[in-house]
Amino acid sequence: MKKLSAEWDNPLFKQVQAQFEEAAANLGLDSNLFYRLRVPDRALIVSVPFRRDNGQVQVVPGYRVQHNDILGPCKGGIRYNPNVNLGEVAALAMLMTWKCALVGLPLGGAKGGVQIDPTPLSRTELQRLTRRYTAEIINFIGPDHDIPAPDMGTNEQVMAWIMDTYSQMKGYSIPEIVTGKPVVIGGSLGRKEATGNGVVFTVIEAAEKIGLKLDHNTRVVIQGFGNVGSAAHKKFEKIGCRVVGISDVSGGFYNPNGLRFEDLMEYVEKNRTLQNYPEAEAVSNEALLTLPCEILVPAATEGTVTDKVAREIKCRILAEGANGPTTLEADKILKDNPDLFLIPDVLANAGGVIVSYFEWVQDLQNFFWNETEINQRLGDIMKKAFHNVVHMAEQKKVGMRMSALMSGINSVAQAMLTRGLYP
Ligand code: NAD
Repeated sequence: MKKLSAEWDNPLFKQVQAQFEEAAANLGLDSNLFYRLRVPDRALIVSVPFRRDNGQVQVVPGYRVQHNDILGPCKGGIRYNPNVNLGEVAALAMLMTWKCALVGLPLGGAKGGVQIDPTPLSRTELQRLTRRYTAEIINFIGPDHDIPAPDMGTNEQVMAWIMDTYSQMKGYSIPEIVTGKPVVIGGSLGRKEATGNGVVFTVIEAAEKIGLKLDHNTRVVIQGFGNVGSAAHKKFEKIGCRVVGISDVSGGFYNPNGLRFEDLMEYVEKNRTLQNYPEAEAVSNEALLTLPCEILVPAATEGTVTDKVAREIKCRILAEGANGPTTLEADKILKDNPDLFLIPDVLANAGGVIVSYFEWVQDLQNFFWNETEINQRLGDIMKKAFHNVVHMAEQKKVGMRMSALMSGINSVAQAMLTRGLYP
């Protein structure tokens, strides 16, 4: 096995490669396919200079990685975070390939990122950064080969600026260049909530499978109150569950009587973060994950479920809203826990890319669907994918994560074998 060069040397990249290697061995994957799939097809590194409000120019690194496009155009979010690097983006691009294949979308996997903390930036700074990053990657992306979407640190507004920059440079409106944009410029109804809603759809199926009743006595803990965590919170509340723990980067909050979604939203709108949220006990982000609960949803970032956390986890269902939240060591511990049902990231958070796919299709057709239709189609796809993964796990006697990965990798491998190697 070749050693990783320094730029790829990232814990998440090593983790997804190790998982891929195990899944490939279980599948008896052809060695040509193995070597092609364990690294991305292409990667672009750019320098992004942008003017701060004080007149100074700051330069930050940006990335876009396309892992594999055998099933269709590459699809994947753009992340703004100070820890972003090439290895992390490549890992997330690889997970996108398996995710799209697993849920049956005609799309490949990509990811992008800019190494910056967006929180202290003003709106004008964020806009200049986004427009320049878009200009730097403009020939790499396109509605027929690589379509970005939001991820950590980016949102609907950032997608709107990407769409506008791309359209201005091409000379006409091209809404299908990004998904997760506001509805008023060609976004899809239901996209903002899709990932969080999708997490809950899979939890409903898992609860039925293990005979867990979902009602006011069902305690839910969610790490992260961003796009994914907040939408999941709202949906859990809607189906009657009690969210007792929540967190963001400022820390965690616990109230065994329940934390109301509307109250938290109102607080975050006023204060930007949950810091000092009243009417709850403050806990660390690590302690939050081991609170007594039936359902745990890590929906913040990678590597938060460590081996230490895994040993103390008390939930019955662990639904990975974030990408790669569980470390390799933790995963081994969770696998040996007979009381825990794991819904792995590539399955649990696939709702985002599913509705992104709907958005792209609607933009291409210039014909828009209503929200009921979108949620119905999302639910159908998530449910089918969930049961396929359960079926394969039982048939092959592997865990849910391995089953999901094997299912996604197998679809990609079949397509590669059928298309053959060029030239
Ligand atoms: P976001 O930026 O909207 O929210 C992230 C939340 O996590 C924020 O509340 C932030 O304060 C918190 N956070 C960040 N670092 C943290 C840390 N170290 N400890 C505790 N909390 C921390 O991001 P998002 O879009 O909700 O994405 C969250 C996760 O879900 C990421 O792993 C992302 O890749 C994954 N995901 C997102 C989507 C999507 O549609 N947005 C789709 C699939 C997967």
